[in-house]
Amino acid sequence: MWKALRILLLLSVLLYVAVDTWRDQNKNWNQATIVLLHPINADGRTSTQQYINRLNLSQFQEASEYLQKNAEKIRGKSTAFYFQMGREIRQTPPKVPEGNMLDAILWSLKFRYYAWKQHQSSDGHPSVTLYLNYYDPQTTNMLKHSTALEKGRIGAVNLFASTKQENQNNIVLTHELLHAFGATDKYDLSTGQPIFPIGYVNPQQQPLYPQHKAEIMAGYIPLSKTTNKMPDNLAHTIIGQETAKEVGWTK
Ligand SMILES: [Zn+2]
Repeated sequence: MWKALRILLLLSVLLYVAVDTWRDQNKNWNQATIVLLHPINADGRTSTQQYINRLNLSQFQEASEYLQKNAEKIRGKSTAFYFQMGREIRQTPPKVPEGNMLDAILWSLKFRYYAWKQHQSSDGHPSVTLYLNYYDPQTTNMLKHSTALEKGRIGAVNLFASTKQENQNNIVLTHELLHAFGATDKYDLSTGQPIFPIGYVNPQQQPLYPQHKAEIMAGYIPLSKTTNKMPDNLAHTIIGQETAKEVGWTK
């Protein structure tokens, strides 16, 4: 009985995913983009909760202005981005597996099911929904990799519950948002090193190193063939041609 129910449930999720995928193939950039942000206290600490209680849109203004400014510059047309602060959510998104392809597919279904279950009619119809997992940097010094799905336009973003980390948080959030619109990573997944030339802001530069800015989907500034550093803030990043093409800002 339970097994049959579970299969039925999985099949309905698959059907929903299939219909949904077909429906939102292309983002229409002439329409406003609404980004809904749901904070989550991911480590259950009081300090994290205090940070979340104080959270408002001003913490994300840098990211929304960056996206709007770049989209307008690249497209040559006015493009609107609106960020909205959503409800705090108690349940964390399913943990991203580190295993094989099948695990990754099952995870993406679970994540979409989670998003469907969390959605309330008062949330409206955002273009993208991001679940922001906040961690206290006092007890978590490295964040797990964030993930966003283009199909379904949802993302689980791991951030630090700290004012000092807000510039970094905006970089991570922007990177994940661009994933949700179809951008791909431009760094080597095994080494973390930006890929030449698409992950370089200035691949023609002589000498090539050090580079001075990071391509947003490469995430880091190449200092040599094997070393890199984190950009300080979004002003030290660029949305490269390849990324602009992938999200549909250029042909
Ligand atoms: Zn990425």
